[in-house]
Amino acid sequence: METFHKKIENINPEENFERYCVNKSDNVIVDAFSKKTAVHAGLMDRFAPKEQTQEVLKNVLNQERKNRTAAYIHVPFCETHCLYCGFYNQPYRREQSRIYTDVLINEIKLWENTTAINSDPINALYFGGGTPTALEVEDISRLLKYISSALPLANDCEITMEGRISNMTKEKVEAYLQGGVNRFSLGVQSFNTELRRSMGRRSDRDTIIERINMIKEYNQAAIVLDLIYGFPNQTMEIWVDDILLAQNLEIDGFDCYQLNVFPNTPLGKRIADGSINPALNIKEKTELFIKSVELMQNALYTRISVNHWQRTTRERNIYNRLARGYASCLSFGAGAGGNINGYGYMILRDYQGYLESVKNGIKPIMGISIPGVNYSLYKEISEYFETGYLDLAYLENKYNLPLTSICSKLLNQWEDAGVIKYENNKIILTLAGQFWFVNLSQLLQEYIKLTLQFQGDKNMVNSEKVSL
Ligand code: SF4
Repeated sequence: METFHKKIENINPEENFERYCVNKSDNVIVDAFSKKTAVHAGLMDRFAPKEQTQEVLKNVLNQERKNRTAAYIHVPFCETHCLYCGFYNQPYRREQSRIYTDVLINEIKLWENTTAINSDPINALYFGGGTPTALEVEDISRLLKYISSALPLANDCEITMEGRISNMTKEKVEAYLQGGVNRFSLGVQSFNTELRRSMGRRSDRDTIIERINMIKEYNQAAIVLDLIYGFPNQTMEIWVDDILLAQNLEIDGFDCYQLNVFPNTPLGKRIADGSINPALNIKEKTELFIKSVELMQNALYTRISVNHWQRTTRERNIYNRLARGYASCLSFGAGAGGNINGYGYMILRDYQGYLESVKNGIKPIMGISIPGVNYSLYKEISEYFETGYLDLAYLENKYNLPLTSICSKLLNQWEDAGVIKYENNKIILTLAGQFWFVNLSQLLQEYIKLTLQFQGDKNMVNSEKVSL
């Protein structure tokens, strides 16, 4: 689970109101903001002093989990570095498969007999990375077997294997299905062979289609895939072809994501040195976004989040929903990030450090954050924006905070600018608001938080304090 939390300064939002406003324009979807401010919205919590990390964690693990829960298993290897990826960590070496699996199992053993892990069922389990499908068949099989006995998975637990098409051989798919996997999330990004290869992806269009059809034949699991818009040289024609092909494959659902170009990725560097054309600009991206919404609505897909479209009820999208909202996420593996009752923790990203820590019987975490005042409120706002609307009246009632009056001036400006509208007393994101939903979510959370701070509100909601 990768998130980028924003630090906010101690300033009166009223004195800096313009900062939270949307630019007014005849073409607001293009001009609302100059750029996307984050990959995911969220506020930064305070970290416990480093020397108290293990002690705080111990206290958190003695608590019962109080909210819905996902579990995440991180496999940090990749066979190649896709040019646009900011999450690449370790090159895959075959011998690492057995070593890492052993250590991962030992890591989970360090956590498993605790109240926090065992107190409630887990609703969704996600194998992500990196590339979990890089692991060898015998290793992923024993990992799946171990986890299903060690963690309290709900009977209807969604178990997702995130994978690369090039890894999806029959042998591996059968091992995943036998191990209980009931959902495959495939990082296709584009079916266009030339575009894929230019971004460092290996498989060609025909191979992708053949592998997806092969997995479908088993009739055992939901199949979803990601498509991305915004790559250098990506045309409307390529984008439309990608969406129509995904629809024709009759899989269970898919995401249409916007490309984020990070300066420290190979893509960011190559664009900077001029060896690759720039990624699409905001105007071009909005055109592809609008087209995707039109094509998906025409095909009568159900929209279960701003980016995610469902074709069949086999697709539930539970993990993504939980991970972006107010839920606990029990995470394991080098570089994973999780949280228990709002206490966020990061597992060591340094691979050797991770192996050493587990070998020494020490939970390999590098820091733990303490949930701030009204932590769960802000997470719920994030979850609402992900799904394209906000029920502020519900949150006002639930948290007993004057949210309507706090937000009215700002929301009036947003309505006037054309990024939100009201329906049945709920705030609905317009098409422009959907395109910029991360910025809006981030700004609203910051605005509420700062206003409450300035009003001296000391309500603590849904966050039980752990003594330091
Ligand atoms: S996109 Fe996936 S496979 Fe490619 S480098 Fe990033 S984590 Fe690895």
